[in-house]
Amino acid sequence: MSQRVLITAGASGVGRAVAEAFSEAGAQIWVADVDTQALSICPEGWRRTRVDVSDAAGISALFAEIARDWGGLDVLCANAGIAGPTALVEDIELDDWRNCLAVNLDGAFLCAKHAAPMMKAQGSGVMLLTSSTAGQYGYPRRAPYAAAKWAVVGLGKTLAMELGPHGIRANVICPGAVEGPRMEQVLAREAQAKDMTRDQVYRGYASGTSMGRFIEGRDIAGMAVFLASDAARLVSGQVIAVDGHTVNPDPKI
Ligand code: NAD
Repeated sequence: MSQRVLITAGASGVGRAVAEAFSEAGAQIWVADVDTQALSICPEGWRRTRVDVSDAAGISALFAEIARDWGGLDVLCANAGIAGPTALVEDIELDDWRNCLAVNLDGAFLCAKHAAPMMKAQGSGVMLLTSSTAGQYGYPRRAPYAAAKWAVVGLGKTLAMELGPHGIRANVICPGAVEGPRMEQVLAREAQAKDMTRDQVYRGYASGTSMGRFIEGRDIAGMAVFLASDAARLVSGQVIAVDGHTVNPDPKI
């Protein structure tokens, strides 16, 4: 039977690339995303649900629908995340802090909470949580995001320990900066603030990696498909960076 794969934030960005890769590998796809417009342009054959991952009732309803229509779930890609505020810790409002953790951390927790019993009943399953380079280093002016992404690592490692005896694997993927609209906004903002060109800012960030470049959504997608495959049947509890090898997480540009 083809794999039944749920991808949160799967309607665009990294999640969309992950969904496409699983689809090309023959999987059944269910994307959950908060953006109705982005969902509307996903392929016809994909199941689509509009939901905010931080909404406990919404995630509960999503999993009830998955149980009814699919009867189980083989792969959970808990991928949704937002950047959160860009400010020094002392200037961050509690509401902004909580909102960042709600999407990045609560969202992954809620999905794992509902996927776990489903996968236990099957005696199989794979959970892939999306963290970030920010979940391996500090990230000046982005403390809520870094804190949430470190917490996602803790969640993933604990899931691996709790669920391994049930034949379920859990791993965490840490993407580096991804080519695309989200990073273009960051580059444009920084270029303006520092009176630099977009390319100068890009090179500054990219110089913090051995490979000297940003990654693409397909780099995460390839890792996700591999981790969900039988080739990775004994890979669990791992935190895997797909980032061109970060050597300096805070290049001074
Ligand atoms: P993105 O900003 O491009 O958004 C992708 C999708 O997420 C959008 O369709 C959006 O509607 C959806 N989304 C946002 N908030 C949501 C919510 N509350 N509930 C459901 N869907 C929601 O994001 P991306 O760049 O594709 O990032 C995907 C994941 O990768 C995130 O966890 C992010 O933190 C992580 N990541 C991204 C980068 C990067 O450079 N883009 C780097 C490291 C880690």
